[in-house]
Amino acid sequence: MADLQGRIALVTGASQGIGRACALELAKAGATVALAARNEAKLADVAAEIAAAGGQAAAFALDVASEESIKNGAKAVIDRFGKVEILVNNAGITRDDLMMRMKRSDWDDVLSTNLTGAFLLTQALLRQMMKNRWGRIINITSVVGRTGQEGQVNYAASKAGLIGFTRSLAREVASRGITVNAVAPGYIETPMTTVLGEKLREKMIEQIPLGRSGTDAEIAQPVVFLASDAAAYITGHVLDVNGGMFMGG
Ligand code: NDP
Repeated sequence: MADLQGRIALVTGASQGIGRACALELAKAGATVALAARNEAKLADVAAEIAAAGGQAAAFALDVASEESIKNGAKAVIDRFGKVEILVNNAGITRDDLMMRMKRSDWDDVLSTNLTGAFLLTQALLRQMMKNRWGRIINITSVVGRTGQEGQVNYAASKAGLIGFTRSLAREVASRGITVNAVAPGYIETPMTTVLGEKLREKMIEQIPLGRSGTDAEIAQPVVFLASDAAAYITGHVLDVNGGMFMGG
């Protein structure tokens, strides 16, 4: 089990799904976790769940699609905990449609939430991370950013963008003791995927060699590993966690 005792982590999109699972696992490993998302009631439930299990967490209302909210949220977390050492850029949305029908607003919303949000929040926290000479940045991308997916040009572009962002930033900050990696989930059961319906679910599972969807904890555990000292020599990596759905190069 990774030891993150005394570390301060911030997880975006921590109100449900994969982000919530990352927060629970990071707290279980000993980190103090700043939970960020828009839904404050759900964040409070996650904070209570962590506290009930003996961990430490606090909720911060933060909209990653708003530059002002990111600035205020980052400042609130630093004011409260003094620093952020582990940043998990997990918040994400889909606005699916075929290219021919996709609205400009669907493109903009997905890019600003999934990609620009990660850029702005990372930038807001990077200086203090560089000063501390230790940091872990983990970006949640997607198998779709590797393979593409019809009906998701916006989402796939945002997730492929996160991979380029990860590798470029990894090169920039390696000398400061900061690693930057991405985790690329396959088909994971969360509120994001339950809306897809049974037919699509069956079709997806047919493409998975392990023959099942993944759980949010199965994404959170690799995230904790990448945050730990055991992963100190891994940077600029995209870790596929997809049951074999895509075996990347
Ligand atoms: P969910 O829809 O279940 O959760 C998304 C989370 O993102 C919520 O906590 C939501 O919180 C938060 N969020 C959305 N928009 C914003 C915003 N503007 N500001 C702050 N937080 C926001 O999705 P998953 O848990 O399934 O997905 C988590 C990540 O994993 C996403 O980046 C997704 O693209 C990625 N992923 C998921 C896969 C899957 O199969 N489930 C596969 C591959 C990648 P709130 O509404 O409270 O703001």
